[in-house]
Amino acid sequence: MTVTITFWGARGTIATPGPQTTRYGGNTACVELTDGSGNLVILDAGTGIRSLGKALLTRNGTGGVQADILLSHAHWDHIQGLPYFAPLFMKGNVLKVWGPRQGEVAMETILRQMMHPAVFPVPLDALAATLEVEHVTERDPIITPGFRVTAMRVRHPAVTMGYRLERPGGPAIVYVTDDELGRGGEYDVPQDWRKRFEAFCGGADLLIHDATYTPEEYPSHVGWGHSTWLEAIELAHEAGVKRLALFHHDPEHADGPMDEIVQQAQEAAARWKGLEVFAAQEGQTLTL
Ligand SMILES: [Zn+2]
Ligand SMILES: [Zn+2]
Repeated sequence: MTVTITFWGARGTIATPGPQTTRYGGNTACVELTDGSGNLVILDAGTGIRSLGKALLTRNGTGGVQADILLSHAHWDHIQGLPYFAPLFMKGNVLKVWGPRQGEVAMETILRQMMHPAVFPVPLDALAATLEVEHVTERDPIITPGFRVTAMRVRHPAVTMGYRLERPGGPAIVYVTDDELGRGGEYDVPQDWRKRFEAFCGGADLLIHDATYTPEEYPSHVGWGHSTWLEAIELAHEAGVKRLALFHHDPEHADGPMDEIVQQAQEAAARWKGLEVFAAQEGQTLTL
């Protein structure tokens, strides 16, 4: 069975709307996955989720939206769109939000504070939709109506999860935004993390991975929790991935610099047959 993937936001760190980003887009992380039966998983709730919300209401009617929303972590650019996700405000919609506990702080507490009356007019408890917030761990797979999802902690400040989504007879999709593949940074992950991470990404039909920096930019951002496009390509090759989507574009990378990155990345990947590389563009849809 096929899976359709739509990028509603591919920008990292902060939304960057404007004439310089019309092609790659200015909205922050949000990716939609649907299987042939209409089962829906949403990866992250950056500002891109606002447009997805409107599309879902058109597609399913005001009270017919059911979705699992998987949050990688709770940094602004991955949750900021959630209060503006229209299906939350309509009766009949059923939404389940998954995310890692942040040390002592529950994900629900973070979302509740994000909608505190001091900073947002409608509190979490006043939402009309049915909303549940659940924690994700590396141990227990998440079973959604359409996908079996496993999580792995990645190298980023705060507790940040990568997700691998599969379904019987269908493609494997791995989503890892915000991950430092370079040697910098100190993260609470095991010694053999890299080996385990390659296995986690292994053979994926599509890997969506952090490619915030160019190799030239990385030395001044060591320990910030992000990767270069070249590191993402090397990972994809080592893990036997078929297609790599460069993701979490730096706010300073307007359309022109992004075109250059894509060209360099495709030249670098050309020495490995069978690996296709592109940079995720807002509004782009692919079917696997
Ligand atoms: Zn981010
Ligand atoms: Zn982050």
